[in-house]
Amino acid sequence: MSRFLIFLLAGLAGALIADKKGRDKLIWFLLCFFFPPLLLLLLFLPLKLAGGKTKQCPFCSRVVSSGDTTCKYCKKELPIEMVQCPGCGSFVPGKGYCIKCNRELK
Ligand SMILES: [Zn+2]
Ligand SMILES: [Zn+2]
Repeated sequence: MSRFLIFLLAGLAGALIADKKGRDKLIWFLLCFFFPPLLLLLLFLPLKLAGGKTKQCPFCSRVVSSGDTTCKYCKKELPIEMVQCPGCGSFVPGKGYCIKCNRELK
């Protein structure tokens, strides 16, 4: 029983962390639920991920600052994804939070 709870907590924690990383919550919930050690792996990834200040390099999957135009790890040019902010209507780069009104971008 308590073992089940630990697994459940691992899954929930995984989902929470994954959510902050813009990853699939359900997948990480299941991964961490069935393989709790994966949670450590998830935690081991850079802590900087939270807060919408970072983005993931599509080429090497490492985390870079959302303002970077080139990946500092693999040196590739990062595509700038422009999205329309649902809050202020401005076109702003990327995921995370709107640089103008700080609203969360979906
Ligand atoms: Zn890279
Ligand atoms: Zn905005």
